[in-house]
Amino acid sequence: MKNPIYEEKVNKFMAYIMAKNPAELEFHQAVREVVESIVPYIEENPIYTEERILERICEPERVIIFRVPWIDDKGNIQVNRGFRIEMNSAIGPYKGGLRFHPTVNLGILKFLAFEQVFKNSLTTLPMGGGKGGSDFDPKGKSEKEVMRFCQSFMTELCKHIGPNTDVPAGDIGVGGREIGYLFGQYKRIRNEFTGVLTGKNILWGGSLIRPEATGYGNVYFAQEMLKTRGETFEGKIVAVSGSGNVAQFTIEKVNELGGKCVTLSDSNGFIYDPKGIDSEKLKYIMWLKNEKRGRMKEYADKYACDYFPDERPWGIKCDVALPSATENEINGEQAKTLVKNGCICVSEGANMPSTPEAIEVYLAAKILFGPGKAANAGGVATSGLEMTQNSMRLSWTREEVDGRLQTIMKNIHKTCHKYGTKEDGFINYVDGANIGGFVKVADSMIAQGAV
Ligand code: NDP
Repeated sequence: MKNPIYEEKVNKFMAYIMAKNPAELEFHQAVREVVESIVPYIEENPIYTEERILERICEPERVIIFRVPWIDDKGNIQVNRGFRIEMNSAIGPYKGGLRFHPTVNLGILKFLAFEQVFKNSLTTLPMGGGKGGSDFDPKGKSEKEVMRFCQSFMTELCKHIGPNTDVPAGDIGVGGREIGYLFGQYKRIRNEFTGVLTGKNILWGGSLIRPEATGYGNVYFAQEMLKTRGETFEGKIVAVSGSGNVAQFTIEKVNELGGKCVTLSDSNGFIYDPKGIDSEKLKYIMWLKNEKRGRMKEYADKYACDYFPDERPWGIKCDVALPSATENEINGEQAKTLVKNGCICVSEGANMPSTPEAIEVYLAAKILFGPGKAANAGGVATSGLEMTQNSMRLSWTREEVDGRLQTIMKNIHKTCHKYGTKEDGFINYVDGANIGGFVKVADSMIAQGAV
């Protein structure tokens, strides 16, 4: 977007956002990315300006911040901060994950909640946007400490959520174990067995394929992008970052489609395994990260491959990159290296893993770039399917849920194609996802009046 009139409008709007939300850098970054796509669209459709949709969509409907006191194993009182951002409920109950990580703050959660509004709209399911979490660090805590923390967190959160109001799920640091403790405490306090959380265990209301959905969905989305250039995953070298839920199931699906994943990372560094991470090695990673809660360095020791402390995997030559760890993990220089090394597709399993400079590099090089709000929407889409099954008190088979997930990812790709195709035929998936996600929410807000 280099039109000076649009640029001026974007800068003016961003000055307003930055003055109103000082020091929330990730929130500014997420808003700017969306507004750059939307401004040209709303110039052609002035109703959105008259209705002040941009101002309204950037303001959370409600922000809840609360104290989370808990007792550690030594009997000492610890205090963390809890958050829930209820961003937008125009098209359904607030929906979005909980993140437990020491870097959590208001700006990070507002960026995630904002992205979630557009992502949830893209899925076509009736879900509004929200996000929450705490600066609690589960690393190094005992099982019982994690349980006591989750119980204290839910003791306050349960006053604000419900199956028709706000339905949280997992995110970084919140997996099946934490969802279990949170659900147990909600049920105990409210005396209700309802679908108030998603990502639940299959034994008590969870959906098959929910654990796999974000990773699988990202690979399905990348597959659709590759198809537009007559390509598939067969024989492709794939760089993956992270080693948690999203990364693990990304590898499983890439392997199934004939690709070879050669990297994985955690917050201490990355491993490079040129022979590929096959299903046996993946089984080990799942045990290492989900049960032992160990570090990727141990993988390098076990399989005698290279380990790069404090580095990220983007210098490794690959055809496809699937960042699946955290925000801003690929900068402009790293994006240039990826492109120089022949990478033709970057599809984001994580939320906002590419900096604005990195996105500029991908778009200038015209490689396939799937932004997180489209590419990783399979997770929340399957959470939506879990909500449907809970409401019907029925469980669908693996095949049924996976089939619906594939259809949803194909439809998100179609929406991006519709709103993001440029005159020369290049598909700008950033514009496509932002405008495609915006229209449904904005039109619903207009229909519901100035609320
Ligand atoms: P997990 O907690 O299961 O795994 C996170 C992984 O990322 C871990 O390997 C972790 O390393 C690494 N990581 C976390 N923070 C950092 C950091 N600051 N620097 C480097 N590495 C880091 O989380 P998920 O797999 O669920 O989430 C990964 C990403 O995907 C996040 O951006 C999340 O928002 C996004 N996402 C997740 C969805 C889901 O359904 N789970 C849905 C949509 C998006 P370590 O072990 O050292 O902490």
